[in-house]
This record gives sequence, structure tokens and C-alpha cells, in this order.
Amino acid sequence: MITKNSKLDITIVDMTNEGEGIGKVDGFPLFVKDAVVGDRVKVTVTKLKKNYGYAHLDKIIKKSPDRVEPACPVSKRCGGCSLQHLSYDAQLKFKYNKVVNCLKRIAKISEAEDKIKGILGMNEEGKSPENYRNKAQFPVGISKDNNIITGFYAMRSHEIIDYSDCKIQHPSNYEILETVKDFMKEYNIPPYDEVSHTGIVRHVVTRVAISSQEIMVSLVINANSLAFSDELVERLSAICGVTSISINVNMEKTNRIMGDKTVTLYGEDYIIDSIGDVKYQIQARSFYQVNPLQTKVLYSKALEYADLTGNEIVWDLYCGIGTISLFLAKKAKHVYGVEIVPEAIDDAKANAKLNGIENTTFYVGKAEEVLPREYEEHNVKADVIVVDPPRKGCDIKALETIVKINPKRVVYVSCDPATLARDIKWLGENGYELVCGEACDMFPHTTHVESIALLQRLSNTRERTITLDVEMEDYHRIKEGERL
Ligand code: SAH
Repeated sequence: MITKNSKLDITIVDMTNEGEGIGKVDGFPLFVKDAVVGDRVKVTVTKLKKNYGYAHLDKIIKKSPDRVEPACPVSKRCGGCSLQHLSYDAQLKFKYNKVVNCLKRIAKISEAEDKIKGILGMNEEGKSPENYRNKAQFPVGISKDNNIITGFYAMRSHEIIDYSDCKIQHPSNYEILETVKDFMKEYNIPPYDEVSHTGIVRHVVTRVAISSQEIMVSLVINANSLAFSDELVERLSAICGVTSISINVNMEKTNRIMGDKTVTLYGEDYIIDSIGDVKYQIQARSFYQVNPLQTKVLYSKALEYADLTGNEIVWDLYCGIGTISLFLAKKAKHVYGVEIVPEAIDDAKANAKLNGIENTTFYVGKAEEVLPREYEEHNVKADVIVVDPPRKGCDIKALETIVKINPKRVVYVSCDPATLARDIKWLGENGYELVCGEACDMFPHTTHVESIALLQRLSNTRERTITLDVEMEDYHRIKEGERL
């Protein structure tokens, strides 16, 4: 019988969606952090629940062929890259399986492997799964020996791991962080302390436009202004590529990183990046995909799935700064974008202008409010609807309205396969069939996976009875981050 503190030898046979190894003892699953499929390990049981338990990895007896040495010295403690000890090919397999398993278990699509064609990874020629991120948010704090530190939060905590040379970030961050720390030391500007809600500098946020190499640096501060900011500007602007420097005011006691007010200290309040032949202007607070090389791959898939001929009306829900909208606009009759963050819509409109694109209209608001309103008041039509919601997936009101509008195709871009599967199930019960899809690795070394799916209207009837009561319990049960 297994009890707490039992010491066992087990083989890891599977992995959870969060990247923990799963070993079984007489069919009873034990979750083991830092263990990978194929490892034979010695563990100590730390916690037992009715149907599963947790165990601590004491020793690897035999390494899995998929196990590699992590490139980053803090990968075990940091909450970011929980898959660094898995070879990149095995990471891709893990992510592909995650998407397929969600479709099987939640959407009940038994032939999910046939539908999901594969995973678009960063293992192609000319790409690397390192240094891929264009955005970083480093918390600033103080070490036990009173030094200013910047780095990342440890897994499930707010303890800062002092490390500036993150392997998935752009290499310019290192110099930026060292410059900010030196400036703070010399001018006695204290880091923020979230317990006492005192101190000044909370986060350093950086963004790099990979195509133009323009860099934006924003210091999030617990004050309305920053003393000696001219000196900071002089030092940061000397770093190659830095074209925008700002402070962002966040004086709230909150986990939210950025506040509502941003003051530009140097250069423009945006940087310009391009994906394919579309240029994008991006402000500090707007959402922008973090992996530009893979974004191009993903958007090209969206374009392929949308299958535009130039005559289509397209709606792009959760459009951010209009990235997908503008990518599709050149091939569509008109694209309508909807997004909740007003600044992102300002960027979307500016981006349309910047690219000389005139066949787009952007709305600020919730997709689940704007779409029903436009449908009721203006009887909007759509040939294709693209959705790219946050992790919680589409609101039911948005899905209901999509079905009422009755487009030929729905292209679903998702950053959480569980909510994707939930919404595909609902759409499946309401007249839309999953045709095909693909996983896309936007976030190498982390457990996150992006995916894209094409759904097609089953019949041409505009009159449709929407079976809203179908498994609504399922709809509400599967929320972002749920353990499956
Ligand atoms: N399609 C864009 C953005 C995708 S991220 C791109 O590829 O860059 C999801 C976006 O949805 C974010 O910009 C977020 O601000 C927005 N959002 C979140 N909830 C929303 C809602 N209820 N209605 C509309 N937009 C929402």
C-alpha cells in the first residue's frame, strides 16, 4: 500500500498538461515534477488524494532518451520554462498530444489525430527555439544581502529569481536590465516592495520589433514621476536599438503589471514591427503576439483556412491591434475587428492607415456585446468569422451570435486547447463541423501551445434552432487552466 513518505521506484509513462511526469503504481497515478516520459526514477510520495498522488523526484535511475540538460541554470526554480529538460522534438510531441487529447476528451472527437495535421514547430531551417520572445516583464526587487535584483518569479510565488540572461528572451534585455539596476543604485531609487507597498520601480517591461530591431523600454513605477529620468534616458537610449522609453504609473496594490497611465520620456510611444508585408505599430500596453516568427506561420495558416477570394465579409473577434484583420484584409472585401482594449483599437486603426488598407472597420468593446448588437441593429453578415480569444475561450453569447450570423467558415485561433475543444464541441452541436486544424509552437520550452482550427457550416439553412441548453454544464466547467 502506498502511504505518504513511501519511497518507490517508478517509470514515467505519461505527462500532465502542466508538464509533470506521471508514473503508475498498480494503476494509481503519481505526479512527479521534473520527470519526463521514459525516465526511471526514485521518488518519495508527498501527498495522496483519492484517485492520484504527488511524489518528489529523489533520483533519476535511468534517463529517458528524451531528457536533455536545460540550457538555463535557473530553469528548475523559474516558473517560465517548465519543459527545458525535454528535447525539443519531444516537446513538440507533448504539445501535439495535448491538443489531440483535449479534442478527444472534451470535444469527443475520436478521430482527432486525423483532423489535427501536426504541429508547426521552430525546428525548421533558419529557426531556433531559443531567444524567440519579443516581450519581457521583469519584476524588480531586493535580495537578502540588499542588492537590487531583476529576474523572474519562482514557480507559483512572488519570490524573484535574480537572473537577467533568460534564454528565451531577446539578448538585448541583459544590457537593458543591467543599465536600469546601475541607474537605480547610483541615484538611490528603491525597488518596489509589494508587502509594504513602498519603493518605486516595480517592473521593467521591454518589447523588441524583430523585423526593425526597434526596442521599447518601459519602467513601471509606484509614483507619478521618476526622479533623474533624464539620466536614465541618456543611458538607455545609448543602447543599440532603443527607440522608445516610457514610464508607466501603477500605484495600486495589485498583481496587474501595468497601470493605465504611460508617459513617454524618449522617442515614440510605439515601435513598428512587420509580419509578412504588413507593418504593425505597437504601444506598450497593447497585446501583440510574443513570437513573431511563429506568428507569421500562424497567420498564414489563418489566411489559408479563411480561403478568401476577395469577395468575403470577414469578422475578426478579439482582434488586438488588428494583426489578423490586416493580414486578411488584402484578400477580403471587408474586415470588421472587435477588441476590448481601446488603445489596441487605436493601434489597429493606425495600422490600417500605415499600410494603406481601407477596407477595415474596428470596434472597441466585448465581442459578446458588439457582435450581438451589430447583428440585431444592422443585420450584419459574414462569410468567415475568425476568433482569437484569451485563454478562457469565447463567451457563449459570442458563439450564439456566430451561429445566428451563419458564416460558411469559422477559423478558431486558440492559446488554450481545453477551451478550444469546449467551444468546438458547442459549435459542433450547433451546425459547425471541425474540418482540420494544426498545433503551433509559439512558446518553446513552456507547456503552452497555440492551435488553429477550421470549422465549416454543415448546411446552408439560415434558419437554425440553436440548442443552447446542450451540455451547458460542460461549457461552464471547462475554464482556463483547469486540470484535465
Ligand atoms: N488576434 C490578436 C489578439 C489575440 S489575444 C493577435 O493575434 O494579436 C486576445 C485579445 O482579446 C486581446 O487583445 C484581449 O485584449 C482581447 N479580449 C479579451 N477579452 C475580450 C472580449 N471579451 N472581447 C473582445 N476582446 C477581448
